[in-house]
Amino acid sequence: MKTVELTCINCPLGCRIEVMMNEAGGIELVTGNSCHRGDIYARKEVTAPTRIVTSSVRVYGSRTGERMVPVKTASDVPKGKIMDVIRDLAGVSVPCPVRIGDVLMKDIAGTGVDMIATKNVD
Ligand code: SF4
Repeated sequence: MKTVELTCINCPLGCRIEVMMNEAGGIELVTGNSCHRGDIYARKEVTAPTRIVTSSVRVYGSRTGERMVPVKTASDVPKGKIMDVIRDLAGVSVPCPVRIGDVLMKDIAGTGVDMIATKNVD
């Protein structure tokens, strides 16, 4: 039996969660979470961890003189793909105007997830 200790990142409480795992890698018990979201997070974190990735990309043609727009993945991507996502963003430049929710890159790093704008830039 092995115990994995985690801090839940789903809310500011940051519950300390323990996941007891058997020799085969199966989850036996999750404790320390104060709500069901923590249980879901812990089970996913020890089996297939994922994250939303936030960053920014260059824009051109902004009438307000802005040079960057903040972006995020439209949903979680596998943790192991985060650096690939960041690499794919390097050198990307998009024309203005940009609207919140605009898809700026489709299928980023082959994850099947789109990169979307999180701010309007005129
Ligand atoms: S387990 Fe629930 S209450 Fe605790 S940090 Fe996670 S989301 Fe917040």
